[in-house]
Parts: sequence; structure tokens; C-alpha cells
Amino acid sequence: MKSIMVKYFPTYYTLGTPPLVSLLVISQLRFCKAVIALTSPSFMRILARRLKFWGMNIIEFNARFPDSEACLHDLFLRQSCIMMRCKACNEPFKYYRVKNRKAYVCGSCGHQFYPMAGTIFEGSTTELYKWYYLIYLFSSSKNGVSAKEIERQVKVTYKTAWRMGHQIRKLLADDGLKLKGLVEIDESLYGGKSHGKRGWGAEGRAVLFGMIERNGKVRVKVVPNRQKEVIVPIIKKSVEAKSLVHTDNYKGYYGLGLHSFKHRKKDGKDIHINSMEGYWGNFKKSMAGTHTWVSPKHLQNYLDEFQFRYNYRKKTPKMFDLMLQHIIIRN
Ligand SMILES: [Zn+2]
Repeated sequence: MKSIMVKYFPTYYTLGTPPLVSLLVISQLRFCKAVIALTSPSFMRILARRLKFWGMNIIEFNARFPDSEACLHDLFLRQSCIMMRCKACNEPFKYYRVKNRKAYVCGSCGHQFYPMAGTIFEGSTTELYKWYYLIYLFSSSKNGVSAKEIERQVKVTYKTAWRMGHQIRKLLADDGLKLKGLVEIDESLYGGKSHGKRGWGAEGRAVLFGMIERNGKVRVKVVPNRQKEVIVPIIKKSVEAKSLVHTDNYKGYYGLGLHSFKHRKKDGKDIHINSMEGYWGNFKKSMAGTHTWVSPKHLQNYLDEFQFRYNYRKKTPKMFDLMLQHIIIRN
């Protein structure tokens, strides 16, 4: 029994279960001799559920993910904790680590499972723990992480740092669910002051189009221009019909009522778009503080990253696991 405890203890640790809970679980297991339970998918599921929502500081992060092996095991658990049976032989799920390969093997049929396959980590020459650390940096920063910062902190070349950052940002795009309730809509311009035209509309500036639920989620897009033909289809796609929509007096919004929305234009009193205007302000301030310059071509990635952070702002302690989960699933 003792050897089994030792063997599986790193599992709890990797999962980030708080030590007290780990000890409780282990002491319980001594009574019920749950060797099977330790490897059963349902047990894994409980652990996975537990691991998801613990905030981490850097010390805890280092303890949880000391090396690439720990990260690989975490990746394996995240993907396999929902599997009851081996996909290849349909026997109960029981996989073992394959030595010298980034793989796990089914005890019954020998089918190999590569946790990194199909993710951004696959084929990357950067070690897995560096990826994890970068995701940690993304999740713990308020204003994003610049490529220069990634280069310094993760110890990769600037080029690699830049690419890694964008690979993560891309996977943080919105969940596609429609906004509802009271939705404020507004458009804004971004950048283009010192760097010439790059094809994003007037004066070389990017046109941003945003929709925000009052006290809820936000959705922001880079659009070619703010013409009615461009923005109305986006609103219809992003906002649930019959929602109450607040806008300013820009003529592009005229006729929104005809598209099954309840439309109100701001009046300087009760009807306002303060949330959206506040969001623009915060976004621009954050961007200016973190990134010296952003290419319009990649602006949507940054918008997606900020949007993700905003939409999950009430779950800040869970941010690392939320981001990682998105990155694995969205790939
Ligand atoms: Zn199998």
C-alpha cells in the first residue's frame, strides 16, 4: 500500500490539490484500500474538478509544475479524466506512462495516447514547462504580456516569444454564445498615429466594434469600417433577438428596431453606453502600457485576449486553468 501511495502522490501534487485535501484523500484511501479508485476515471474526474479552480501564486505554480514531465501528466489528466474506456479497445481506461516518449499506453491493448497531439504544444521545440509558465504569465497579468517580456521571463528568442504569445491569444477567442439582456454597442478607433496605413480603414487606423452586456460579457471585433452593412450583421450574429440595445446617435444604428431589437439611443441621462466607453478606455490604456506597437493585422488577437480576461474577471483565481482548458480544447 505504501508504495502505491508514493507512486500516486505526485498525481495529487501535479493536479494542484491543496495538501490538506491530498492528505485527507490519502488517509481515506488507507481505509478503503482503493487501489482501483486511484486509477479509475471517476476518481480522476473528482481530482480534475478539484484542480480546476485553485488560484496560484508563482511558488505554488513551481511546486505544481516543476518540470515538463509534470506538465505532460497534467495535460494527460485533463484530456483523459473524461474517458471511461479506452477508445481503441473499449476496456476500462487504464493507461501507463511510456518511457522515453511523450506518450501513455493502454494496459489492455497497447494503444498509445499522446497528450500533446493536436495542441499548440505538439511539434514545438520549446519545452512544455515553458509553455505552461507562459500561460501562467498570461493568466496572472492584468494587462497582457509583451513579446519582450516573454523573451525575458520564459528565456526564448524574441521571435519564438512573439509566436508563442500569438498562438495563445488566438485560442482565447470568444465562445460564440450570444449576448443578451441590456447590450451597449459602440465603435472606436485604434492606433495608426505614427505608423502608416495598413489597410484597416480611414487614416490607417483600425476600426473596433464592440458590444457589451451591462455587468456581463463583452465581444469586440476589428471591422473594415463602421458602415451599416458591416455592423448590423455582426450585431445580429452576436446579440440575441429581443435584447435591449443601447447605442449613440450614429446613423449606422438607425433601424436596429426593425431587426427585432429594442433599440434606445443615448440621451445623456438613463440611456448611456458608459460600460462600452469604459471598456475602450481600459483596453487602450492596457495596450499602451504593455505593447509599444501592435500590427493591425494581429489586433484581433489582442482584443480576444483582453476580452477573455474581462469575460472571466469574476473567476480570476481560476484563470490559469480556464485559459489552459481553452487552449487545449480550442486547438
Ligand atoms: Zn486499449
